[in-house]
Amino acid sequence: MSRKILVVEDETPIREMISFVLDQNGFNAIEASDIDQALAKIHDPYPDLILLDWMLPGGTGVALAKKLKQNEYTRNIPIIMLTARSDEDDKVKGFEAGVDDYVTKPFSPKELIARIKAVIRRVSPTSLEEEVDFHGLKLDPVAHRVAINGNSLDLGPTEFRLLHFFMTHTERVYSREQLLDNVWGTNIYVEDRTVDVHIRRLRKAISGEGHEDFVQTVRGAGYRFSSKLKKVSSL
Ligand code: CA
Repeated sequence: MSRKILVVEDETPIREMISFVLDQNGFNAIEASDIDQALAKIHDPYPDLILLDWMLPGGTGVALAKKLKQNEYTRNIPIIMLTARSDEDDKVKGFEAGVDDYVTKPFSPKELIARIKAVIRRVSPTSLEEEVDFHGLKLDPVAHRVAINGNSLDLGPTEFRLLHFFMTHTERVYSREQLLDNVWGTNIYVEDRTVDVHIRRLRKAISGEGHEDFVQTVRGAGYRFSSKLKKVSSL
């Protein structure tokens, strides 16, 4: 499962370096070089975190942060400000705007990733490393283990990532394209049908005690991971 991170930075070499580091660390970076681009790229789906430069053409990052934190759809997206200033006054302004953390330039890739993971851990109920439990189905991302009621299951790497994504994004419908973006990554070319193949394998791997029914096909829309029974069609 790769989390989407919107990188808003006008200096191309820095933006590209950050994107590279994010991709290397299993994140899915989306780049924006100014506020308008950031606003255009923030929708559908919303990012899991925003890295926001302080000084941007057409406004400050902190003004954008304030705007996002006041909007009901974007207020829960964590924001890490990138700043060349270490001035305490500026940090106060940022925190007042609702910014979650700061990274002062120049920073090392290691520091950036550590801050991102710390913020995600703090704000999100299920972190990338946390064990997830869904009705007797347990997935441990660190040990790479899946079990149903204590019995270990054997899953392929793609099925494992797919299940992890589903278990941390339950009760929502995802299109094949969205699943490809989130589980396979945006830079990999695979056909939509590939999703169906892996869904079938996943269902088979977790079958036996009814858990396969959690992976639900939503006709014309995609797939949903849910403990609620599918409505029986009268047709
Ligand atoms: Ca800048």
